[in-house]
Amino acid sequence: MNDEVAERVRRAIYDTFAGQGQAPSRRQIQDLARADEAQVKKAVAELAAQRQLVLDQSGDVVMAHPFTTLNLGFSVLGERTLWFGGCAWDSFAIPHLVNDEPSVLIASTCPACARPLAWTVTRSGPPQGPEVAHFLVPMARAWDDVIYTCSHQRLFCSEHCVQAWLAGTGQARGYVMDLATLWQLASGWYSGRLDSPYQRKDPPTAAGYFRSVGLQGPFWGLDD
Ligand SMILES: [Zn+2]
Ligand SMILES: [Zn+2]
Repeated sequence: MNDEVAERVRRAIYDTFAGQGQAPSRRQIQDLARADEAQVKKAVAELAAQRQLVLDQSGDVVMAHPFTTLNLGFSVLGERTLWFGGCAWDSFAIPHLVNDEPSVLIASTCPACARPLAWTVTRSGPPQGPEVAHFLVPMARAWDDVIYTCSHQRLFCSEHCVQAWLAGTGQARGYVMDLATLWQLASGWYSGRLDSPYQRKDPPTAAGYFRSVGLQGPFWGLDD
């Protein structure tokens, strides 16, 4: 596979998501990447194998983190663009990643009590608020079913609502963090994804990043 073609396909998908809030059609990918149908098909499969894209059963792109075509409980409204936020982490990452949208309104619903929740999220500092994020699936298992994982990285009113949701669903507690930690986690995680070339963080780099934003313990693949 020609790496340059794969990178043009990746950028066609990411740039369209960033600018328009949705995935391009196969036809648009071909035009933007200057590639034929077979090349695009091959590049998309390769990018999915590298976990740079998530495809549905018919092979269409449903996620290019932090972007998604799925409603996973978050909307992210910028000046010009409306996105679905893939999860709490991905939603908070969008204003850091998309250059001309540095301030967005993120809206969600508490999974426990159904209260509507909203934050203005910018690059200059975390939003204020008592809400907490709960991530259910440990990082080592995140890609076993990444759509399930993202759909269970949600924001709750408070620790109390996390407890109520865990009791109600019978799920085991994952990891709970405040808004400031979530904002830190999201701020640099996807940096470079809208540039070429792009290298995904390898496991040691990811571990170092998690540690640098104050995350701890085996949930994040960290020993201490
Ligand atoms: Zn609640
Ligand atoms: Zn996600």
